Amino acid sequence: MAHLLSWAQGIVPNPRSPGVHHDNVHCQGSFKSVPTWAGRATVLYQPKSGDSCSNSLLRNSRAIRFSATSRPDSQGRTDATSVEPVETTEGRIAKLLAANERLLARIADLEKVVNEVRAENAGYIEDKASATPVASSSQAPNAFKSPEPGISLESDSGTGAVTVENSSLSQQPLPAAQEATLILSQLANIRWPSPNDEVPFWMRKSNVHDHVTSFIDNSGAGRKIEPDKNPLYIVHVTAELAPVAKVGGLGDVVTGLGRTCMERGHKVLVMLPFYESIDTTQVEGLAEAETFSSFHKGSWLPVKSFHGKVAGVPVLLIRTDNNLFKGSQIYGGDYDEMEAYLFFSRACLERMQVTGDQPDVIHIHEWHTGVLAMLYWDMYNHLSLKKPRIVLTIHNMEHYGECRVEQLNMCGLDGSAYGTIDRAIDERTIGHNPERLSLLKGGIVYSNAVTTVSPTYANETLCSGWLANTLLRNRSKYFGILNGIDTTVWDPASDPCLPMQYNARKIFGKLVCKQYVQRGLGLEADDLVGDGIQLVRRKQTPLVICITRLVAQKGIHLIRHAINQIGERGGQFVLLGTAPDPRVQAEFEQMSQKLQTSKNIRLLTFYSEDLAHKLYAAGDIVLVPSMFEPCGLTQMIGMRYGAIPVVRRTGGLADTVFDIDDPKNKNRGNGFVFDGISEDSLDSALNRALTYHQERREWWQDLTARVMELDHSWNKSAAEYLNLYNNVRVG
Ligand code: ADP
Repeated sequence: MAHLLSWAQGIVPNPRSPGVHHDNVHCQGSFKSVPTWAGRATVLYQPKSGDSCSNSLLRNSRAIRFSATSRPDSQGRTDATSVEPVETTEGRIAKLLAANERLLARIADLEKVVNEVRAENAGYIEDKASATPVASSSQAPNAFKSPEPGISLESDSGTGAVTVENSSLSQQPLPAAQEATLILSQLANIRWPSPNDEVPFWMRKSNVHDHVTSFIDNSGAGRKIEPDKNPLYIVHVTAELAPVAKVGGLGDVVTGLGRTCMERGHKVLVMLPFYESIDTTQVEGLAEAETFSSFHKGSWLPVKSFHGKVAGVPVLLIRTDNNLFKGSQIYGGDYDEMEAYLFFSRACLERMQVTGDQPDVIHIHEWHTGVLAMLYWDMYNHLSLKKPRIVLTIHNMEHYGECRVEQLNMCGLDGSAYGTIDRAIDERTIGHNPERLSLLKGGIVYSNAVTTVSPTYANETLCSGWLANTLLRNRSKYFGILNGIDTTVWDPASDPCLPMQYNARKIFGKLVCKQYVQRGLGLEADDLVGDGIQLVRRKQTPLVICITRLVAQKGIHLIRHAINQIGERGGQFVLLGTAPDPRVQAEFEQMSQKLQTSKNIRLLTFYSEDLAHKLYAAGDIVLVPSMFEPCGLTQMIGMRYGAIPVVRRTGGLADTVFDIDDPKNKNRGNGFVFDGISEDSLDSALNRALTYHQERREWWQDLTARVMELDHSWNKSAAEYLNLYNNVRVG
């Protein structure tokens, strides 16, 4: 650092670097060494107000930054030194305005070219047979008539090829100038947000749900592939369905798996509680379906079902007159969850019984619907429901549905009959007064097949936790199937939530998304410079995102640590998360308040689907430091949007993220992985990611493009589920 300092001191009065040459200068400012990224030394020169300086760069700068990526030699020379001005706000604004002017001028130029070409095209005579260029009186020398019908004109205006009204080429890559025109007009249309906006940018209208629906409508039944032979009828009975009733991954899974099975020709229906909190405008064609009665707490309650579609998937919403699922949120609302889900599980079977609707498979999820398996085999299968077989998916073993004997009685089962080891007793409560049941355990015992959401989590749960014995006893029917992500909803190339869409080959839009989020949240924005057609990113701060429920499972202590660590290392961190525990929520809200003027950190303590999409697109790095993680979707969504994952090696994270520096992962390294639970362990991966982002720019770009193209869709996983369904089906 001393070398760099003396080198910098040598430069200021007698500059030899381009951009900082100023004669007759009396520089009385101060030099200071500033801490920065590993491997990079930086010295700042801060001019004093009395500095007489003829150089405009120095006048317009708050400071001059001298940096070196390798140590200077004994003469103070280094291979990679740079001298950059740190601009004043006015200087920066002036520069942005100038860039904006240049972009507008460029758009006007290109529009002129397009209009000229259009006018010329009008003068051409069709000559399909000869395909010879035929000139009009005002012929441009570079305009040609195409031999192909449907392709009207191409012109090289000197700025690249422009294609006009080219219907049959719409699927092909756009020629450079047209693409530039498109990008420029998109850029010109962006309403850049600011933290002072009356309506925050994530609340401006952009409905993913409408996008998905229209995507599916426009392509018939979605991306239909060759239908499977011998189609199945699958009914999901679930507490969550994205996006209308989503709290975490469960909602995403049901929608994504359900739609993929439909695309393969299977019939799918999702039965969901009609939560008071559901935004019914997101349920397409919502209409009352059937009225029937279901047993609950000693009497038969009138029940109504309503059919409709959510994100292309047929849904049946179940409710009583006096809705049991009250409140403004899915869980932790103003209702008794145990009572409500016991009612719901029985009502779903009752509806099948009275309507004679018999699926091949009833796919239940989590403890909420575990009792359905018990009700089916001990009650409804003895009535007229003979055909269905039950598949249970456990998304998170931590929630096991603790239930007292008298609570189980509410749905009409004799609770006292289930308090045995081979049925539903929670072994940990044996000998307690009262002993307790577990609906998750009952579901495991009574289902025909049980899955969990990743192979590693399946193995972990066979080795630890109080349910391990039950799972071991049922091992022959227990499988780990990795979740996929819904690649229609999560697609940066068509995502309506993004200010500019992008893909792995045209990553440009990602820079715009990052800048958009940075500006909207009041973070220091990356330095994007327009040079006419291209946007060049000069300064890049690594932006780390974390989108999560704030619970111990997700590694809250490491998230807290990351807030400081990333800030100290000059990176940026945006957290989007909510905590079911009001104390944790209050703690993060307080931290968020304290940091609200920080240029690097934002803690957003609410739920927003729209903002989640924008953050995945903006992020360079997605952080998932979970203590345990059955599957985890955020690392996969992050990768699809080009955010490199930093994760703890557990459950589904271990199945999807492979450390880039581990020689064993030569061809599959796609992120940064750590093992322990300490802050140092996290740093071992996080610091590598931050350093590589700064020091290996091209390598990072290649990595980004590569992870975006990894296939995390439902295709493979849905095939495994269908295989399982076929193994348990009868007939
Ligand atoms: P879990 O199911 O344990 O919560 P997953 O990683 O499987 O974790 O799924 C989390 C899903 O919830 C992801 O789609 C993520 O984007 C979303 N999510 C979590 N918190 C929020 C939030 N505050 N706002 C928007 N989406 C969120």
